[in-house]
Amino acid sequence: MTGVMDISVTKVQRSKLQDTNLENVPFGKYFTDHMLEADYADGEWKKVVIRPYQALQMEPSMAALHYGQAIFEGIKAYKDEKGDVSIFRPADNFRRFNQSAGRMNMPLVPEEIFMEGMRQLIALDKDWVPAYKDHSLYIRPVMFATDEALGVRPSATYKFLILLSPTGPYFVNPMRILVEEKYTRAAPGGVGFSKNAGNYGGSMLASTLARQQGFDQVLWTDAFEHKWLQEVGMMNVFFVINGRAITPSLEEGTILEGVTRASVIRGLEEMNIPVEERRINIDELVAAYKAGQLTEVFGTGTAAVIAPVKELRYKGYSMTFDTDGYRISPAIKTWLNDIREGRIADKFGWMVKV
Ligand SMILES: *Cc1c(COP(=O)(O)O)cnc(C)c1O
Repeated sequence: MTGVMDISVTKVQRSKLQDTNLENVPFGKYFTDHMLEADYADGEWKKVVIRPYQALQMEPSMAALHYGQAIFEGIKAYKDEKGDVSIFRPADNFRRFNQSAGRMNMPLVPEEIFMEGMRQLIALDKDWVPAYKDHSLYIRPVMFATDEALGVRPSATYKFLILLSPTGPYFVNPMRILVEEKYTRAAPGGVGFSKNAGNYGGSMLASTLARQQGFDQVLWTDAFEHKWLQEVGMMNVFFVINGRAITPSLEEGTILEGVTRASVIRGLEEMNIPVEERRINIDELVAAYKAGQLTEVFGTGTAAVIAPVKELRYKGYSMTFDTDGYRISPAIKTWLNDIREGRIADKFGWMVKV
């Protein structure tokens, strides 16, 4: 990635890095010294700057707060043993970001601003990328509407930011999951495939109610029958039945096209495990469980990579799993982390050097 775009850089007077213990960085809590910022107005992206991470000024009437035009991405960069930093599949996130932008009636962000901006920002804050095992730099691009007026219409102005957050291993205990039968996350024709802020807002009540009953998350089902399986919390979901890995297909537009999902599918193929992307419903799952054929259930996403499920509850019936006996998902997780942290060859060209 090389570019000619001119990004003006204002550096911090004093780095916060020496006050930060990179060996102990919980997810999403610390931010690096700098951020990238670009503003859209009059039909074009104006200035692109890298400047110290700091509070933003906003008017109470700012459109994103009222009408929800806000989208984001989540990407990770890793430092290898030589100290080189590489970003995991950023072009896939770039494509998805603009897909989300299109659905939310927001302007597209040019590749140069997204990709080259991200590269330059990470290069500047390279010392913040933790080199410890299972640590990474979490990259958060975000865009939101900034018009300062009420009235429902697509905003004429937007802000695009890239934030960087060093992060340690994201421990996920095996999850207890409730199959959701009342609330829905996404319906055909809706915004389920886009990574917009409102999808998260809309999901929180169901998760909170599930948590009050002792579960960690919900397994989302379709809007009409509450039978067809979509995602687990804010992760894509995989089921291993009879040695075959099954994950809900994307074509209805109700599922987020996870980069981890796509990577896991490649990994399964590498391990000669057949993969089926198709519709799958809860009755098939229960039948497979009762027949002793449902051996693994897990979620996938950038933050946790792979999160095993130890219980699925549907209409008062509990399906339980011995996650210590899982073979496929831990192997895939190790394989993915080995590629990302440079321990095995990256034959797919997934790692993009900063
Ligand atoms: C971000 C996200 C995922 C996971 O996508 P990755 O690219 O693997 O991080 C899955 N589901 C939802 C709803 C998401 O927002």
